[in-house]
Amino acid sequence: MFSDKLIELKNDILQKYRPQFDRLDAISEANTLKVLDAMRDCKVSDAHFGQTTGYAYGDIGREKLEELYAKVFGAERALVRTQFVSGTHALATVLFGILRPGDELVSLTGKPYDTMQTVIGYDHPSPGSLKEFGVLYNELPMVDGHVDMEHIKDVITPKTKLVEIQRSRGYSMRAPLSIADIRAITDEVHRVKPDCICFVDNCYGEFVETTEPTQAGADIMAGSLIKNPGGGIAPTGGYIAGKKDLVELASYRLTAPGMGDELGASLAGNRLLFQGFFLAPHVTAQAIKGAIFAAALFHELGYKTLPLPTDPRGDIIQAIELKSAEKLIAFCGGIQKYSPVDSFAAPEPWDMPGYADKIIMAAGTFVQGASIEFSADGPLRPPYNVYLQGGLTFEHAIIGILGAAQAIEDLEK
Ligand SMILES: *Cc1c(COP(=O)(O)O)cnc(C)c1O
Repeated sequence: MFSDKLIELKNDILQKYRPQFDRLDAISEANTLKVLDAMRDCKVSDAHFGQTTGYAYGDIGREKLEELYAKVFGAERALVRTQFVSGTHALATVLFGILRPGDELVSLTGKPYDTMQTVIGYDHPSPGSLKEFGVLYNELPMVDGHVDMEHIKDVITPKTKLVEIQRSRGYSMRAPLSIADIRAITDEVHRVKPDCICFVDNCYGEFVETTEPTQAGADIMAGSLIKNPGGGIAPTGGYIAGKKDLVELASYRLTAPGMGDELGASLAGNRLLFQGFFLAPHVTAQAIKGAIFAAALFHELGYKTLPLPTDPRGDIIQAIELKSAEKLIAFCGGIQKYSPVDSFAAPEPWDMPGYADKIIMAAGTFVQGASIEFSADGPLRPPYNVYLQGGLTFEHAIIGILGAAQAIEDLEK
């Protein structure tokens, strides 16, 4: 089991960081109220929970779910579909739906998330990428992990149709963006070029604060249902929310021109998506409490962590610099051992589609790859950062993190 040293540390941390944990409970309560108010306004009822087939015209469950998402996120319109295979697919649907040959896309948060680089055709025009279709790309590197506010005006040109703003850190040691940061960035972009579209990659950001990017100047945003907004219950899918005309353009890419959002069967049964969205504020808070606990434990053990246990949070991710491949593999093994599914397996580094380096993942999740469930992963490259995220319950996160710390302790014996 766990060493006396780790158990003692755990007890100290639960005391010492009580104010941080309490703060998360307060955010969860505020967001639960927000979701409940919207559910009442939308008159969500049992009739919306069914499955549909074929074209699924007039699918009242699908339409109600999209109305609910739009309301909670303060957006004009939303697409919430299990036909999105992942977050990347939802994000790519926005980009391909809006951008045309000759338009420029500018990332204001430096190098985008690994899978988005492949969508863009970052290093070379990968087959089917935006670059291959003649969309131009530029980026504004981050400075000390923050958006270079002063130089936004220099990278936005008459060709710049859309800027991408990545809220979460992804696989990097930069800081995630707060809603206040997103407000400042979108204000600056719209000051420089009023019709420039501000698009936020909101993956891992939903319900971390009490407002969302679409309530802070973003024109459109997208994310994954097997992260925060699915509440650990959604079996698959993604969402897009934002201005009506922009979401409509994206819908023509999701289905086909002329069809848009009017068809698409609710194959998974909408109850799972409604129930997951209802649970999402609580589950997101549980995950962040787990992240704070991990930061505190590894900080006390002498590791560099980002964020620090007392830092404000902009996403659910906790990065820990482990400094060696051996420790990264041991850490993931420890997490896996205390997972509810596949606890007997030993994670190994593999070539994941869309990622440049080998990735190791600890993922004993009910929904395959769901990173709102307690999981850890990291690319096998120096300085061997592990990225920890999710946790449907705080209790599970505590146990899993102790398991990871124990695996490293055993390595050093
Ligand atoms: C998870 C994530 C994505 C999308 O990843 P999928 O695995 O395709 O859902 C994109 N951007 C960021 C920042 C993410 O965290």
